[in-house]
Amino acid sequence: MELIIASHNENKVLEFKKKIGKNFLIKSLSDIGFIEDIPENEDTIKKNAIFKSNYIHKKYNCNVFSDDTGLEIQALNNEPGVRSARYSGENKDSFKNIELVLKKLKGFSNRKARFKTVISLIIDNKNYCFEGVVNGTIIDKPKGDSGFGYDPIFVANDMNKTFAEISLEEKNKISHRAIATNKLIDFINKKRF
Ligand code: IMP
Repeated sequence: MELIIASHNENKVLEFKKKIGKNFLIKSLSDIGFIEDIPENEDTIKKNAIFKSNYIHKKYNCNVFSDDTGLEIQALNNEPGVRSARYSGENKDSFKNIELVLKKLKGFSNRKARFKTVISLIIDNKNYCFEGVVNGTIIDKPKGDSGFGYDPIFVANDMNKTFAEISLEEKNKISHRAIATNKLIDFINKKRF
């Protein structure tokens, strides 16, 4: 069965292709000739994920899934959340995003945060959502060079390193995205569509 991944991120596409069993032929947006950016204007991570999968489903009438991720910081009323990519401006600058988070958190003793991924799947015209969450804390100075986004300031509970100080392989085993992805894969493999 054909399943479209509604993302232009080739790393994500490769990761999903590797993980999803042989029963599914994963196609990316470029494989189906879709080159526009899908709007991401909703006010929650879940709504954004659903919007993106619906957008492609309406256009191509296909089985499709999309994901959306954000960092939710308790003391900042769950900001940056759905605005994680563009927190400090439209050019999606991770360095500036981190700077802004650290500035806003100055003086707060509550550093609790969580990464949340929601995957929205539309298959046989029905919508299903899968969530992955990793709880942790925000440290006061970036540490580590691997990963991306907010990884250098996020330490998951029960770890003493940031997500940027562990290998990609290690992160991919425990991350919010991995948790949501594993739920999606379990679901489609068990359902035998
Ligand atoms: P997206 O929905 O996967 O495009 O993620 C939106 C934004 O959240 C990214 O631009 C990053 O700033 C941040 N983000 C998503 N996933 C991660 C992660 O695994 N580590 C750090 N930051 C992330």
